[in-house]
Amino acid sequence: AVAAGPAEWNGVGTTSDGHHVKVLGNVGSPADAQAAADAGAEGVGLFRTEFCYLDAEAEPPVAEQRAAYAAVLTPFAGKPVIVRTLDAGADKPLAFLSPAAEPNPALGVRGLRVAFDRPEVLDRQLEAIAGAAQDSGAEVSVMAPMVATAAEAAWFAERVRAAGIARAGVMIEIPAAALSATEILAAVDFVSVGTNDLAQYTFAADRQLGAVAKLNDPWQPALLRLLELIGSAAKAAGKPAGVCGEAAADPVLARVFTGLGLTSLSMNVPAIRAVGASLAGVTLAQCEAIAARVLETADPAEARRTARDGDSG
Ligand code: PEP
Ligand code: MG
Repeated sequence: AVAAGPAEWNGVGTTSDGHHVKVLGNVGSPADAQAAADAGAEGVGLFRTEFCYLDAEAEPPVAEQRAAYAAVLTPFAGKPVIVRTLDAGADKPLAFLSPAAEPNPALGVRGLRVAFDRPEVLDRQLEAIAGAAQDSGAEVSVMAPMVATAAEAAWFAERVRAAGIARAGVMIEIPAAALSATEILAAVDFVSVGTNDLAQYTFAADRQLGAVAKLNDPWQPALLRLLELIGSAAKAAGKPAGVCGEAAADPVLARVFTGLGLTSLSMNVPAIRAVGASLAGVTLAQCEAIAARVLETADPAEARRTARDGDSG
C-alpha cells in the first residue's frame, strides 16, 4: 500500500517527487476567505459570488459588488483566486435573476444561461470583479458556471477579456462539456470541474435528493472516466484543469485526480491539510498507476478499495 504521507502540510501541494498540484480553498464570504488563508490554502479555486446575494431583492450596484468581492479577495493578495460569476438558479435561486417557475429548475435557465438573456448583468459583475482585483492585489481569474458548449465558453471568454480581466475559464459540470473539453480548452485559459453537478447530470440524479445519493458518488467509475477525458485534454492543451466540487476534499480521491492529469484541487477549508498531506505521500507515477486501475473498476466500492490499496494493487 502507498504510505500515508507526512502529517505536515507545508502550504504547497506537491507529490513526493515534486509534481505541483495546487491545494486551494472554496469560499463564499470574507470569513471563509480568511479561514482558507489561515489554513494554508495556496489560493482560491472557487469563490461562489452568488453566496453574497442570496438575500438580495435587487441587483446590487457595481460599487457595492466591488466592495463585497474585494473583502473576500484581500486575504489572498498576490495569490491566485478564481471568481465564479453568479450561479443563480436551481439549488441557489436569486430573487433578482432566477426565472419565476420552471418545471425542472436544474435543467433550466441557471448559471451562465441567465447571462445570454441579460448580458448587462454579467458585464456589470465583471466590471466589479475587475475593480476588486485592483483593490485587493489578488491574481484574479474569472470562470462561468453551467457551460454546455465550446461556443458558450468562447462567448463568455470574450466578455471577460473585454472587461480587462486577464484569465477566463469555465466550469465543466455538464457531461456535454466534459465530452467537448478539447474544444472548450481552445476557447479559454483553464477549466475547473464541478463534480457536484457533473455527477448529478451524468447520473440524472438530483444532488439534493437523499434517495439517489448512491448514484451521486464521486467514486463512480463512469464519473471518473469523464474526469480522465478532461485531464487528458488539459495535458494535451497545456492548460490547467482543476476540481472544485466536494470530491476534491477526499484525500484518497485527490491522488486519483492527480493521476488523471488534474492540476489543482479546491475544497472546503477543513480538508486542506489532509489533502496536502495525502499528496505528499505519493509520487506522480504512483498516482497515475492508481488512477489507471481505478478506471477499470466496476463500482464505487471497488474503486475506493483499489485506490486505498495504492500501488501494490
Ligand atoms: C459543483 O457543481 O461541483 C460546484 C463546485 O458548484 P456548486 O456546488 O456551487 O454548484
Ligand atoms: Mg455546480
